[in-house]
Amino acid sequence: MDLGKLIQERIRDIPDYPKPGVMFKDITPLLADHVAFAGVVDSIVNHHGRGTIDKIVGIEARGFILAAPVAYHFGAGFVPVRKKGKLPAATREETYDLEYGNETIEIHSDALEAGERVLIVDDVLATGGTARAAAELVRRCGGDVVGLSVLLELSFLHGRDKLGNLDVHSLVTV
Ligand code: AMP
Repeated sequence: MDLGKLIQERIRDIPDYPKPGVMFKDITPLLADHVAFAGVVDSIVNHHGRGTIDKIVGIEARGFILAAPVAYHFGAGFVPVRKKGKLPAATREETYDLEYGNETIEIHSDALEAGERVLIVDDVLATGGTARAAAELVRRCGGDVVGLSVLLELSFLHGRDKLGNLDVHSLVTV
């Protein structure tokens, strides 16, 4: 089966989660299918080419699950971006707006060497606020953001418009 179709079949819509009005895209059925999971990881790696990336930044929490095997297959290091208060050493932080309120994410200040080529990985690109803040953290740490790879892009929320000329690679767009 075509990978895009398989991904769409394995992502489950959960209405009104975590709050009314949100259609949550649950990727756990995809992760439980080893063919789909491996296809996703291979597709992200193939899009960029081995040896072209130094670090993979994964965004908490589902981004970690995808970013870690991508890092392994690239031969790149893995760097977590986490919600405020979860990383143990000195951090840099970025705050961005959500529909209601705001969110702060952090990266370890010493996570990157100057000039390292970084790919950011997450499960879903929605409004783009999280990805934009993660890209800003990488740049503030001296990294060169070469792209963002996501499993699913919710195009009606126009997240990529917030990301300037960043190479946004989504495996499925709805
Ligand atoms: P945003 O900053 O609006 O692009 O939201 C992206 C982040 O929120 C990602 O880390 C996603 O895991 C999560 N997210 C946003 N909307 C959804 C959704 N409808 N279903 C699942 N995760 C979502």
